[in-house]
Amino acid sequence: MSASLPEDTGPLPHRIGEPIVTMEHVQKHFGDLHVLRDINLEVAKGEVVVVLGPSGSGKSTLIRTINRLETIDSGTITVDGKELPSEGKELARLRAEVGMVFQSFNLFSHKSILENVTLGPTKVRKLSKAEAEKEGMQILERVGVANQAQKYPAQLSGGQQQRVAIARALAMKPKVMLFDEPTSALDPEMVQEVLDVMVGLARQGMTMLVVTHEMGFARKAANRVVFMDEGQIIEEAEPQAFFTSPTSDRARDFLSKIL
Ligand code: ADP
Ligand code: MG
Repeated sequence: MSASLPEDTGPLPHRIGEPIVTMEHVQKHFGDLHVLRDINLEVAKGEVVVVLGPSGSGKSTLIRTINRLETIDSGTITVDGKELPSEGKELARLRAEVGMVFQSFNLFSHKSILENVTLGPTKVRKLSKAEAEKEGMQILERVGVANQAQKYPAQLSGGQQQRVAIARALAMKPKVMLFDEPTSALDPEMVQEVLDVMVGLARQGMTMLVVTHEMGFARKAANRVVFMDEGQIIEEAEPQAFFTSPTSDRARDFLSKIL
């Protein structure tokens, strides 16, 4: 693991700034299925919000609407005060401000690790190759895989590939990072190295919205837990309060199954 990641030194500083992501009255259907039901959610600058809920409750759909990977039927979503257009050049530019890390790493298999990380910055941020490589190496250092820079994705472990995927998102200097079950596809022994990078980001003040079943991460890094069921936000609380005394029956039932 990279020496540049901060040590585990107790509770996170609770520094909450202006809103970065704002969702107001968001509704979404897939055909007859009402998958997001009047979602109202704000993620403030520097805040780490963990989204929990049973499979099929709408967690992935919710975070995918934030960078328009999914459209919405009604309501508004803004990122740093701006509504994302539904298509075009402006969408590509604003999308770059929203980093996304998926369960499957989605790296470009025919490009080296360093190329995976420099592609976006040269194309979208218009950095020169040399500038992008300099920044790229620093970011790979930060996630602990700088020594793999010249290799190809298939030559890396799953944990290393997911750390590269995080680096690739960071290289675009996002205002917020969205994670959708980033450790679910990993072999158990590789989960921690990815969570460590995420905790490091949280400690450095990155704004994060994270769907995960890793309760350890939620307890350690989240400022707030959002519990979803059947397309609705049922409950929001600080992790300690949520895990020790959830207020809804649905959250109690969910926790009794996973803890
Ligand atoms: P979660 O991430 O909480 O498991 P999802 O957001 O993936 O939930 O899915 C919520 C619901 O929407 C599920 O019932 C799922 O089957 C359905 N769904 C998700 N994506 C699509 C799609 N592209 N078309 C139709 N139904 C979908
Ligand atoms: Mg999902």
